[in-house]
Amino acid sequence: MKKILVSACLIGENCRYDGNNNLVEAIKVLYEKGKVIPVCPEILGGLPVPRPACELVENAGVLRVMGKDGSDYTAQFRTGALLTLEEALKNNIKLAVLKARSPSCGKNKIYDGTFSGKTIEGNGITAQLLIKNGITVITEFDTLTI
Ligand code: SF4
Repeated sequence: MKKILVSACLIGENCRYDGNNNLVEAIKVLYEKGKVIPVCPEILGGLPVPRPACELVENAGVLRVMGKDGSDYTAQFRTGALLTLEEALKNNIKLAVLKARSPSCGKNKIYDGTFSGKTIEGNGITAQLLIKNGITVITEFDTLTI
């Protein structure tokens, strides 16, 4: 059976930066049926729960992940993205349903780096890496038919 990669917070895992989740009941049902593989790239990258909120900041063409605490979390986010890709390739994943607007998982729209709730065009670090490697990425707001 072909499996789908999903952001772990979408099946109700409390892996968000603030210790909460982004449960989508329909995705949790797919998980209970064994059809999805949940991953949290930020946890895979070694970050704890809770952790500082992070946003992507581009400066002179260099993309970094900055925490609201002023620290640079780029290395952890990159590690998490690489380990997520490894998991996807190992499981022959072709489709991922990732959490919208996250600096790791977001697709097409992400927060703008000012921690003001405003969004700009762009992909999260993990979403971008999966797309680059030929995996289709959608968010929980897209229609999923399997
Ligand atoms: S990194 Fe992705 S899976 Fe983990 S909490 Fe953030 S949005 Fe959810």
